[in-house]
Amino acid sequence: MINEKKISKSGSITIPSHLRRELGIENGEKVKIEIANNGQILLSRIKGSCILCHSNESLVKVDGKYICKNCIAKIYDIRFD
Ligand SMILES: [Zn+2]
Repeated sequence: MINEKKISKSGSITIPSHLRRELGIENGEKVKIEIANNGQILLSRIKGSCILCHSNESLVKVDGKYICKNCIAKIYDIRFD
């Protein structure tokens, strides 16, 4: 499927809603823009990183911040004496 989009006066491009839905892209999510050697513009998702260990795997979003499942497990293991 070819998605042809026009760049707005401010330089914005809208990712079609069906693609955002299909890929699970959320509002406010950050993307990385890179130019490849052949001149192609590459858009990559940046899903964030854990606020505790900076991992970017198995992330859960809590109040707009990410925490990984390993850190959640460590927090559950904390005992208060
Ligand atoms: Zn973590």
